[in-house]
Amino acid sequence: MRPIKKSAKLDNVCYDIRGPVLEKAKQMEEDGHKIIKLNIGNLASFGFDAPEEIQQDMIRNLPNSAGYSDSKGIFAARKAIMHYAQQKKVKGVGLEDIYVGNGVSELIVMSMNALLNPGDEVLVPAPDYPLWTAAVSLSSGTPRHYICDEGAGWLPDLDDIRAKITENTRAIVIINPNNPTGALYPDDLLKEIVEIARQHHLIIYADEVYDKVLYDGVEHTAIGSLSEDVLTISFNGLSKNYRSCGYRAGWMMVSGDKRPAADYIEGLNMLASMRLCANVPGQWAIQTALGGYQSINDLVAEGGRMRRQRDVAHELITSIPGVTCVKPKATLYMFPRLDPKVYPIQDDQQFIAELLQEEKVLLVQGTGFNWPEPDHFRLVFLPHVDDLKEAVGRIDRFLAGYRKR
Ligand code: PLP
Repeated sequence: MRPIKKSAKLDNVCYDIRGPVLEKAKQMEEDGHKIIKLNIGNLASFGFDAPEEIQQDMIRNLPNSAGYSDSKGIFAARKAIMHYAQQKKVKGVGLEDIYVGNGVSELIVMSMNALLNPGDEVLVPAPDYPLWTAAVSLSSGTPRHYICDEGAGWLPDLDDIRAKITENTRAIVIINPNNPTGALYPDDLLKEIVEIARQHHLIIYADEVYDKVLYDGVEHTAIGSLSEDVLTISFNGLSKNYRSCGYRAGWMMVSGDKRPAADYIEGLNMLASMRLCANVPGQWAIQTALGGYQSINDLVAEGGRMRRQRDVAHELITSIPGVTCVKPKATLYMFPRLDPKVYPIQDDQQFIAELLQEEKVLLVQGTGFNWPEPDHFRLVFLPHVDDLKEAVGRIDRFLAGYRKR
């Protein structure tokens, strides 16, 4: 029989967060093993429940949700998002500039599909949330990774950004707060990125899906608030701030000077129409979430569950010889470094697979986030403190064996 092959469009597409090691973990679970999962930021599965009022509002609106909605989203959701843009000081965002999607993920792919032609380049951070790199490749563009500097708290290296701009560069992606590093970008840096975009006529894509998951009293600035001219597409949603990954409710909003982008915006509108609309029950949750009690603040405050888990995980992981880690200021993640002199890892996917096999702990390897060296991994600090202690204890034991090899 003639083999059925996947499209060549997928040749350079990689999404290792749900890659082969996860498949192996599923198999092990089927075989009866209990695995501690520090691999995915799926809050509900660790007992971080979605706010009750969101659930109730979705249930109440279910009878109104059986029909398709406007392709860009229901009025109530877009009105609430418009107000949110105003709160974040992003100017000039009207109802028509907002697109509600099945999570941010759908909109990331849509925004790249509408933009790119073969040969077009997009600047993407390394490390990144790998959907961005994958979406650029799937849309026939070329991702060009700029380095985020671990020595500078994982902030983007502006010289590297400048060095990687060519005549084919169309856009720059920033992920702030950052997955996988937990970094939060200061205003001065954001302003410099805006200036680079202005000079080189780049669109800014700002993934701000963790903008409320902030520790130690830090504040988030939306990059869209820092200019009224640079075309900026900002992404946000309920998945993380409101612990509602499964409701699939996200949005993107277009700010800056839209006049030169009329054709691109027509492309976005066409793709939004082609998929008819986003899941309507999830859309109903948006207004309630944005306008309701912001219970995330209790989780990230001193004594709050997320903050405590971040502190415990960071303290434990950095007490292992040869492991260092920038302490996250935001998000659910940290990105520890394994000193290559102590741990001469050649293939970090294999390293993660061995850890899973030997200690039943699941992490994601750093190269899965387009980090160029096999010397990092991402740790999700969502499990309860006792599970985190157990998990990091097992990682410690595994690494002790590695040091003796
Ligand atoms: N962007 C970042 C940085 C993420 O970490 C994630 C999910 O982990 C997403 C986007 C996808 O979010 P959604 O659930 O809204 O599709």
